[in-house]
Amino acid sequence: MQTGEHKPPFLFLCYNHAQIKVQIKPEGIQKVSNAVLEVKNPYLAEVIEKTKAKNANEPEFIQAMEEVLSTIEPVVDKHKDEYQKNALLERLVEPERVISFRVPWIDDKGQVQVNRGYRVQFNGSIGPYKGGLRFHPSVNQSILKFLGFEQIFKNALTGLPIGGGKGGSDFDPKGKSDNEVMRFCQSFMNELQKHIGQDVDVPAGDIGVGAREIGYLFGQYRKIRNVYEAGVLTGKGLEYGGSLARKEATGYGLMYFMREMLKEHKIELNGKTAIISGSGNVAIYAAEKAAEYGIKVVAMSDSSGCVYDKDGINIETVKFIKEIERGRIKEYVEQHKGAEYFENDGSVPPIYKIKADIILPCATQNDINLETAKILVANGAIAVGEGANMPTTPDAINYFLENGVLFAPGKAANAGGVATSALEMVQNSMRFYWSYEEVNQKLDIIMTKIFARCKASAYEYGVKDNYVAGANIAAFRKIARAMKAQGII
Ligand code: NDP
Repeated sequence: MQTGEHKPPFLFLCYNHAQIKVQIKPEGIQKVSNAVLEVKNPYLAEVIEKTKAKNANEPEFIQAMEEVLSTIEPVVDKHKDEYQKNALLERLVEPERVISFRVPWIDDKGQVQVNRGYRVQFNGSIGPYKGGLRFHPSVNQSILKFLGFEQIFKNALTGLPIGGGKGGSDFDPKGKSDNEVMRFCQSFMNELQKHIGQDVDVPAGDIGVGAREIGYLFGQYRKIRNVYEAGVLTGKGLEYGGSLARKEATGYGLMYFMREMLKEHKIELNGKTAIISGSGNVAIYAAEKAAEYGIKVVAMSDSSGCVYDKDGINIETVKFIKEIERGRIKEYVEQHKGAEYFENDGSVPPIYKIKADIILPCATQNDINLETAKILVANGAIAVGEGANMPTTPDAINYFLENGVLFAPGKAANAGGVATSALEMVQNSMRFYWSYEEVNQKLDIIMTKIFARCKASAYEYGVKDNYVAGANIAAFRKIARAMKAQGII
């Protein structure tokens, strides 16, 4: 807190229908009392209820929608008549387009397999739809609508001209040969190419979609469309239009955001410990940057279990296992004798039982629930930074805020990936490429500004230090203005 700043003794934070009375301290937020209240604004409450009823079989989408809408109440209060007249919120929660399609492909045994593909083009009011493709057996319309909805706000926060979208398939690349992955990607693109383009919709990677998959997808797009349209996909290889520092961007960006947030609360990064769930693209580069900041990362995980290394995880070993060998995190203990492996047993993931100062969930959604949050708080966590999308359930976020744990929401903290994708699009348009240092510096500036936007909006709307509300409010105001300017479409 800066000197001379107005220091109210108490604030009321509104999160997910809950109003929490808090006392502001120089470091973190300390809860004083807590009362559960419904959203008061009748228009907002009605939109939330109608959206829940209309999408009753889409729990992940409902969760994401409620989180955003319940935190923007002060803005809706100010503009209620205008928003209601233009059905702005009703239009915001309805995707502009949802495309679902059949993806047939032939496996190595000659057997035809059929998966389902999707692209959710949620909101294009501030730029071409932009958001990753996820290949994972859990993928369904609800998950892609939650991710697409989050993406609208995340992309708005970057300050770059990109709308929100998301896509993917229930295809599981795990255990598939390169040829099978290639045939799947080609079949997926046979349909997807009808709906994307560098000025229309620009997909990228996400869970299960890395450099290999983007390469096959780009190749098929080029073959069918007979055009070298580099800006149609991001996360490309450096040889054919990719950007330096894109691979590192989400993880590094998360740590730039954490650095700003902790600096604001006068907390040193150097000397802290961290646990990072996941060991994919986001987790690896968050770990690398954390180590550079003097943080000791003591544990990482995958969907089977976690490794704990009291001396600090060796990132190069994790990179080799995951990026080169496409192996499992448990292989780490073969190379580092002091390390231990703990298998998941279906209850609280073992990684969250390990004591650490900084918690970085970088795997998947709803990874940290209330039970897990209680363990983390009891173990003395001081800050949580969401590298993944929606890895923390609403009651867990509430619990962190109530207990003075600083909380960096994914739509702000992991926006570095999409921001650098947008920088990749800029470079593709210029047909000129920036150096690694130039891209990384731009990423750092973007993340620093995102934190500043979250902080300023939270302060302006009376929810100081609540970066969940700050991020939602800052992004929503921009999107609402753009939607209003473009009329009823
Ligand atoms: P990767 O596919 O590279 O890695 C995903 C990691 O999460 C793997 O370690 C995986 O383990 C683990 N994981 C996946 N599903 C589960 C599960 N159900 N339970 C436990 N662990 C799981 O994906 P990314 O690193 O790219 O993405 C991770 C998260 O970050 C996602 O939420 C994604 O939406 C988000 N994100 C990614 C961005 C990017 O630029 N890549 C940008 C912004 C957000 P296993 O190998 O065992 O499946």
